[in-house]
Amino acid sequence: MSMEFRRRGILFVVSAPSGAGKSTLLNALRPGEDFVYSVSCTTRTPRPGEIDGEDYHFLTPEDFARRLAEEEFLESAVVHGNRYGTRRAAVVDQLAAGVDVLIDIDVQGARMIRTDASAQIQESIADIFIMPPSLDELRHRLVRRGTETPEQIEVRMTNAATELEAWRDYRYTLISGSMEEDLQKFRAIMRAERYLSRRMILA
Ligand code: 5GP
Repeated sequence: MSMEFRRRGILFVVSAPSGAGKSTLLNALRPGEDFVYSVSCTTRTPRPGEIDGEDYHFLTPEDFARRLAEEEFLESAVVHGNRYGTRRAAVVDQLAAGVDVLIDIDVQGARMIRTDASAQIQESIADIFIMPPSLDELRHRLVRRGTETPEQIEVRMTNAATELEAWRDYRYTLISGSMEEDLQKFRAIMRAERYLSRRMILA
């Protein structure tokens, strides 16, 4: 008798205050190997080097509003003054096909997904909060990145204090250390989630 197992796709929900090291970590994870990275929509203007359709789908506020009204988004939120949203279709089709999807969203978006009406979505969630080692280190990293004006850095630091309080709502909390440490911890979480019995389907 052969035991043929299939697995449902996992929705890895990753949140972190801006500058916690999340982007570096997510880039190093090399999407495409065993999960896909969902590209969000935003009304934010592209940073130098950002590519439309790759980093984000950069939308006009009007286009974003229309899609929101048409209920295209699984979740959406205003973050640091701009709108961000995850397209539902991009996520559910993959999960149904047994493909893992990683979304990088803020704490408001994560809250929306946890309370989503779809059982398929709820059961697929594995949420991970990336904690900066300290607020000082967070500021250092933001300054070092050099993509925000001093005013924007202050907005992000103020928001970080609120965002950090949400960590208890996540199944996993990853305290950010070196890039290599973070990568190992993250991979360990992904691996364990993939062996959960409740994600298996015996054909
Ligand atoms: P950034 O402008 O630095 O790329 O992203 C700012 C914040 O927006 C980050 O905390 C990021 O996680 C969040 N974000 C990016 N895409 C989405 C999304 O589709 N939905 C939500 N709720 N937040 C998002």
